[in-house]
Amino acid sequence: CGIVGYVGPDAGARSLDVVMEGLSRLEYRGYDSAGVALVTGDTVFAQKRAGKLANLRSALESEEVPVSATAIGHTRWATHGGPTDENAHPHRGGQDGKIAVVHNGIVENFHALKGELLEQGVSFTSETDTEVAAHMLAAAFAETGDLTEAMRLVVGRLEGAFTLLVVHADQPDVVVAARRNSPLVVGLGDGENFLGSDVAAFIGHTKQAVELEQDQIVTITPDTYSVINFDGTEGAGRPYEVTWDA
Ligand code: GLU
Repeated sequence: CGIVGYVGPDAGARSLDVVMEGLSRLEYRGYDSAGVALVTGDTVFAQKRAGKLANLRSALESEEVPVSATAIGHTRWATHGGPTDENAHPHRGGQDGKIAVVHNGIVENFHALKGELLEQGVSFTSETDTEVAAHMLAAAFAETGDLTEAMRLVVGRLEGAFTLLVVHADQPDVVVAARRNSPLVVGLGDGENFLGSDVAAFIGHTKQAVELEQDQIVTITPDTYSVINFDGTEGAGRPYEVTWDA
Protein backbone atom coordinates (compact mmCIF):
# COMPACT_ATOMS: atom_id res chain seq x y z
CA CYS A 1 0.00 0.00 0.00
CA GLY A 2 1.19 3.49 -0.72
CA ILE A 3 0.49 7.20 -0.64
CA VAL A 4 1.40 10.06 -2.96
CA GLY A 5 0.77 13.79 -2.69
CA TYR A 6 1.62 16.62 -5.05
CA VAL A 7 1.21 20.38 -5.24
CA GLY A 8 2.61 22.37 -8.15
CA PRO A 9 2.11 25.49 -10.24
CA ASP A 10 -1.36 26.21 -11.62
CA ALA A 11 -0.01 26.47 -15.12
CA GLY A 12 1.76 23.11 -14.85
CA ALA A 13 -1.40 21.27 -13.94
CA ARG A 14 0.29 17.91 -14.12
CA SER A 15 -0.80 16.65 -10.74
CA LEU A 16 -2.70 13.65 -12.09
CA ASP A 17 0.30 12.41 -14.08
CA VAL A 18 2.66 12.85 -11.13
CA VAL A 19 0.35 11.01 -8.75
CA MET A 20 -0.41 8.14 -11.15
CA GLU A 21 3.30 7.69 -11.85
CA GLY A 22 3.99 7.71 -8.10
CA LEU A 23 1.34 5.07 -7.49
CA SER A 24 2.78 2.85 -10.17
CA ARG A 25 6.24 3.16 -8.63
CA LEU A 26 4.73 2.09 -5.30
CA GLU A 27 2.95 -0.94 -6.79
CA TYR A 28 5.72 -3.24 -5.54
CA ARG A 29 4.39 -2.77 -2.00
CA GLY A 30 1.20 -4.64 -2.91
CA TYR A 31 -2.39 -3.33 -2.92
CA ASP A 32 -5.98 -4.27 -3.70
CA SER A 33 -7.47 -0.92 -4.79
CA ALA A 34 -6.38 2.52 -5.91
CA GLY A 35 -7.70 6.05 -6.14
CA VAL A 36 -6.90 9.73 -6.67
CA ALA A 37 -8.34 13.09 -5.65
CA LEU A 38 -7.70 16.34 -7.54
CA VAL A 39 -8.50 19.81 -6.25
CA THR A 40 -10.40 21.72 -8.90
CA GLY A 41 -12.28 24.98 -8.61
CA ASP A 42 -14.49 24.82 -5.57
CA THR A 43 -14.71 21.04 -5.35
CA VAL A 44 -12.47 18.01 -5.18
CA PHE A 45 -12.75 15.48 -7.99
CA ALA A 46 -12.17 11.88 -6.94
CA GLN A 47 -12.02 8.52 -8.68
CA LYS A 48 -11.25 5.11 -7.16
CA ARG A 49 -11.44 1.48 -8.13
CA ALA A 50 -10.95 -1.92 -6.62
CA GLY A 51 -8.24 -3.93 -8.36
CA LYS A 52 -5.16 -2.92 -10.28
CA LEU A 53 -4.11 0.58 -11.28
CA ALA A 54 -5.26 -0.31 -14.80
CA ASN A 55 -8.86 -0.29 -13.51
CA LEU A 56 -8.40 3.19 -12.12
CA ARG A 57 -6.70 4.30 -15.33
CA SER A 58 -9.54 3.12 -17.53
CA ALA A 59 -12.12 4.76 -15.25
CA LEU A 60 -10.19 8.02 -15.56
CA GLU A 61 -9.94 7.65 -19.34
CA SER A 62 -13.69 7.25 -19.71
CA GLU A 63 -14.57 10.58 -18.10
CA GLU A 64 -13.55 14.19 -18.16
CA VAL A 65 -10.82 14.70 -15.57
CA PRO A 66 -10.33 18.30 -14.47
CA VAL A 67 -7.02 20.08 -14.78
CA SER A 68 -5.49 20.45 -11.33
CA ALA A 69 -2.35 21.61 -9.55
CA THR A 70 -2.98 19.66 -6.34
CA ALA A 71 -3.58 15.94 -5.97
CA ILE A 72 -3.33 12.95 -3.67
CA GLY A 73 -3.26 9.26 -4.56
CA HIS A 74 -3.56 5.96 -2.73
CA THR A 75 -3.07 2.26 -3.08
CA ARG A 76 -5.01 0.31 -0.48
CA TRP A 77 -4.36 -2.88 1.41
CA ALA A 78 -7.75 -3.42 3.02
CA THR A 79 -7.91 -3.86 6.78
CA HIS A 80 -11.48 -2.67 7.53
CA GLY A 81 -14.05 -3.38 4.83
CA GLY A 82 -13.48 -5.58 1.78
CA PRO A 83 -11.64 -4.47 -1.37
CA THR A 84 -14.59 -2.75 -3.12
CA ASP A 85 -14.89 0.50 -5.08
CA GLU A 86 -16.78 2.08 -2.15
CA ASN A 87 -14.10 1.16 0.38
CA ALA A 88 -11.23 2.31 -1.86
CA HIS A 89 -9.67 5.66 -0.97
CA PRO A 90 -9.97 8.67 -1.21
CA HIS A 91 -12.78 9.14 1.27
CA ARG A 92 -14.84 12.25 1.58
CA GLY A 93 -16.08 13.93 4.71
CA GLY A 94 -18.97 16.30 5.15
CA GLN A 95 -21.57 16.79 2.40
CA ASP A 96 -20.06 19.45 0.16
CA GLY A 97 -17.53 17.40 -1.84
CA LYS A 98 -14.75 19.78 -0.82
CA ILE A 99 -12.53 17.46 1.15
CA ALA A 100 -10.74 14.19 0.40
CA VAL A 101 -8.58 11.97 2.55
CA VAL A 102 -6.26 9.01 1.94
CA HIS A 103 -4.86 6.82 4.67
CA ASN A 104 -2.43 3.96 5.14
CA GLY A 105 -2.56 2.11 8.45
CA ILE A 106 -5.31 1.49 10.99
CA VAL A 107 -7.39 3.82 13.16
CA GLU A 108 -7.69 1.49 16.15
CA ASN A 109 -10.44 3.45 17.91
CA PHE A 110 -12.57 3.95 14.80
CA HIS A 111 -15.51 2.06 16.25
CA ALA A 112 -16.01 4.49 19.13
CA LEU A 113 -15.43 7.49 16.86
CA LYS A 114 -17.88 6.16 14.30
CA GLY A 115 -20.48 5.71 17.03
CA GLU A 116 -20.11 9.37 18.00
CA LEU A 117 -20.41 10.52 14.40
CA LEU A 118 -23.48 8.34 13.77
CA GLU A 119 -25.10 9.88 16.81
CA GLN A 120 -24.48 13.30 15.30
CA GLY A 121 -26.31 12.16 12.17
CA VAL A 122 -23.27 11.69 9.93
CA SER A 123 -23.89 9.08 7.22
CA PHE A 124 -21.17 6.75 5.99
CA THR A 125 -20.54 5.48 2.48
CA SER A 126 -17.88 2.86 3.29
CA GLU A 127 -16.98 0.28 5.91
CA THR A 128 -13.47 1.64 6.42
CA ASP A 129 -11.85 2.96 9.56
CA THR A 130 -10.54 5.79 7.38
CA GLU A 131 -13.90 7.41 6.73
CA VAL A 132 -14.19 8.52 10.37
CA ALA A 133 -11.04 10.60 9.90
CA ALA A 134 -12.51 12.15 6.73
CA HIS A 135 -15.68 13.27 8.55
CA MET A 136 -13.71 14.50 11.54
CA LEU A 137 -11.42 16.52 9.28
CA ALA A 138 -14.41 18.07 7.49
CA ALA A 139 -15.90 19.13 10.83
CA ALA A 140 -12.58 20.41 12.16
CA PHE A 141 -12.00 22.42 8.98
CA ALA A 142 -15.49 23.93 9.24
CA GLU A 143 -14.56 24.98 12.77
CA THR A 144 -11.04 26.30 12.17
CA GLY A 145 -10.88 27.26 8.47
CA ASP A 146 -7.35 25.89 8.38
CA LEU A 147 -6.37 22.45 7.15
CA THR A 148 -3.19 22.14 9.23
CA GLU A 149 -5.04 23.09 12.39
CA ALA A 150 -7.88 20.72 11.46
CA MET A 151 -5.35 17.89 11.07
CA ARG A 152 -3.80 18.71 14.44
CA LEU A 153 -7.18 18.56 16.17
CA VAL A 154 -8.09 15.25 14.52
CA VAL A 155 -4.84 13.33 15.00
CA GLY A 156 -5.12 14.10 18.71
CA ARG A 157 -8.17 11.85 18.76
CA LEU A 158 -6.88 8.99 16.61
CA GLU A 159 -5.23 5.87 17.98
CA GLY A 160 -3.18 3.42 15.96
CA ALA A 161 -0.78 3.73 13.06
CA PHE A 162 -1.47 6.08 10.21
CA THR A 163 -0.16 8.11 7.35
CA LEU A 164 -2.98 10.50 6.55
CA LEU A 165 -3.19 13.02 3.69
CA VAL A 166 -5.92 15.60 3.19
CA VAL A 167 -6.84 18.20 0.56
CA HIS A 168 -9.60 20.82 0.72
CA ALA A 169 -11.04 22.94 -2.10
CA ASP A 170 -11.03 26.05 0.11
CA GLN A 171 -7.23 25.79 0.47
CA PRO A 172 -6.49 24.66 -3.07
CA ASP A 173 -2.69 24.90 -3.10
CA VAL A 174 -2.05 22.91 0.06
CA VAL A 175 -1.67 19.24 0.99
CA VAL A 176 -1.48 18.41 4.69
CA ALA A 177 -0.12 15.08 5.93
CA ALA A 178 0.36 13.42 9.31
CA ARG A 179 2.34 10.41 10.41
CA ARG A 180 2.26 8.10 13.40
CA ASN A 181 4.10 4.77 13.26
CA SER A 182 3.70 4.75 9.50
CA PRO A 183 6.06 6.14 6.84
CA LEU A 184 5.97 9.62 5.26
CA VAL A 185 8.62 11.49 3.26
CA VAL A 186 8.53 14.94 1.66
CA GLY A 187 10.11 15.55 -1.76
CA LEU A 188 11.28 19.08 -2.55
CA GLY A 189 11.00 20.25 -6.15
CA ASP A 190 11.38 23.58 -7.88
CA GLY A 191 8.02 25.34 -7.52
CA GLU A 192 6.41 22.00 -6.68
CA ASN A 193 6.53 19.66 -3.70
CA PHE A 194 5.76 15.99 -3.14
CA LEU A 195 4.72 13.55 -0.44
CA GLY A 196 5.21 9.82 -0.47
CA SER A 197 5.05 6.80 1.76
CA ASP A 198 8.52 6.24 0.39
CA VAL A 199 10.84 8.15 -1.92
CA ALA A 200 9.95 5.85 -4.82
CA ALA A 201 6.76 7.93 -5.07
CA PHE A 202 8.66 10.99 -6.35
CA ILE A 203 12.17 9.82 -7.22
CA GLY A 204 11.49 10.54 -10.90
CA HIS A 205 11.19 14.24 -10.05
CA THR A 206 13.55 15.10 -7.20
CA LYS A 207 16.25 13.62 -5.01
CA GLN A 208 15.86 16.24 -2.27
CA ALA A 209 13.87 14.63 0.52
CA VAL A 210 12.84 15.39 4.09
CA GLU A 211 12.03 12.53 6.41
CA LEU A 212 9.48 13.32 9.09
CA GLU A 213 9.67 12.10 12.65
CA GLN A 214 6.82 10.24 14.32
CA ASP A 215 3.82 12.29 15.43
CA GLN A 216 4.45 15.13 13.03
CA ILE A 217 2.30 17.04 10.56
CA VAL A 218 3.67 18.57 7.37
CA THR A 219 1.98 21.16 5.18
CA ILE A 220 3.22 21.53 1.62
CA THR A 221 2.51 24.30 -0.90
CA PRO A 222 4.24 24.70 -4.29
CA ASP A 223 7.08 26.69 -2.67
CA THR A 224 7.15 25.77 1.01
CA TYR A 225 6.92 22.97 3.51
CA SER A 226 6.40 23.39 7.24
CA VAL A 227 6.43 20.85 10.03
CA ILE A 228 4.70 20.84 13.41
CA ASN A 229 4.48 18.21 16.11
CA PHE A 230 1.13 16.75 17.16
CA ASP A 231 1.30 18.93 20.30
CA GLY A 232 1.39 22.06 18.13
CA THR A 233 5.04 22.94 18.70
CA GLU A 234 7.26 23.69 15.75
CA GLY A 235 9.01 20.65 14.30
CA ALA A 236 11.76 19.97 11.81
CA GLY A 237 12.14 17.03 9.50
CA ARG A 238 15.47 15.51 8.52
CA PRO A 239 16.57 16.76 5.06
CA TYR A 240 18.68 14.36 3.00
CA GLU A 241 19.57 13.55 -0.56
CA VAL A 242 18.33 10.32 -2.07
CA THR A 243 21.33 8.48 -3.42
CA TRP A 244 19.75 5.83 -5.59
CA ASP A 245 18.58 6.24 -9.16
CA ALA A 246 15.04 6.11 -10.49
N1 GLU B 1 -7.31 0.80 7.17
C1 GLU B 1 -7.54 1.43 5.91
C2 GLU B 1 -8.52 0.63 5.08
O1 GLU B 1 -8.76 -0.50 5.33
C3 GLU B 1 -6.25 1.68 5.12
C4 GLU B 1 -5.54 0.43 4.69
C5 GLU B 1 -4.20 0.72 4.01
O2 GLU B 1 -3.19 0.88 4.69
O3 GLU B 1 -4.17 0.79 2.76
O4 GLU B 1 -9.09 1.14 4.17
